[in-house]
Amino acid sequence: MTHHTRLPSAVLVDGASHLVFPLAPDPSWPAIAEAKGFDLITRVTDRYRCVLRCHACGTKAVVRINVLRDHQPLCHGCIYQRRATAALALGAELIAADAGSRHYGHSRLRCGHVVRRQYLRVEKAAAGGHAIDCEACREIRYGTEARHFGWTLDGPARGRRPGYRSYRHGCGHAQDVSIGNMAWGDASCGACAQNWAGKPSYVYLFKIDLPGLPVVKMGYSARPAKRLRHQLGIARGVRTEILRVMLLSSGNAAVREESACHRAMRERHAHLIVPKPMFGDAINTQGRCDPCQPAIQYLGLGR
Ligand SMILES: [Zn+2]
Ligand SMILES: [Zn+2]
Ligand SMILES: [Zn+2]
Repeated sequence: MTHHTRLPSAVLVDGASHLVFPLAPDPSWPAIAEAKGFDLITRVTDRYRCVLRCHACGTKAVVRINVLRDHQPLCHGCIYQRRATAALALGAELIAADAGSRHYGHSRLRCGHVVRRQYLRVEKAAAGGHAIDCEACREIRYGTEARHFGWTLDGPARGRRPGYRSYRHGCGHAQDVSIGNMAWGDASCGACAQNWAGKPSYVYLFKIDLPGLPVVKMGYSARPAKRLRHQLGIARGVRTEILRVMLLSSGNAAVREESACHRAMRERHAHLIVPKPMFGDAINTQGRCDPCQPAIQYLGLGR
């Protein structure tokens, strides 16, 4: 048995049913639609609307008749195709339209992250041969850079300065550092700097046998052996020795004592001081060195 319905005639557009409007289209409309890349199917809903079908992709759309007459109707099927193709050219997959703005869509990048981007920017990037930058990957990279220097990326900066992030030092202290500085390890931990001033430190006396210029060098450091071996940039063949270290209760105290020693040297034994130009880059220090024997006696007699 055959079933007949008495529903009025309707057109399906994008899964929704639109009632055919029982009035013949103006005879000029089919030609107008044709010239603009569409077939006129029928009038729907009311006397202001019709259904067009795109020549290029076959997608049907409900369009206002004044748009058909006075403007270029857009095919959303073609627009979607164009955007998806642009995304694909960038190695991405357009997966969703943005709920908030019709100018934005969501794409899954090659790395697996999903980004929200303006369609226009994606199409421009594709046309210009550029890539889509992935924020998630960028943050991962910042974290990797920081780890080389004993820091971890903590998250957005607490302050409002652009180009900054909050990083956590190995000691547990977190602070804002510029991304650019961190990439070069150019960050000093506020907490450690403070602790350093309050932690025990040493005044040291090194013997450094530079060729033809044996000297002693006095200074302060929390780790004199490390300073001698790694920080002074002394050539491998040069014989060095730690003659003496004196433990002081804090970094501040060490700085104070070191300055007092240098002052005493300047006042009482100025002729023994070797100025920087004499040893040049052989020892990587801002200060001066003192020729051997008398300086040892000097520090030995001191506190
Ligand atoms: Zn189309
Ligand atoms: Zn990514
Ligand atoms: Zn620290």
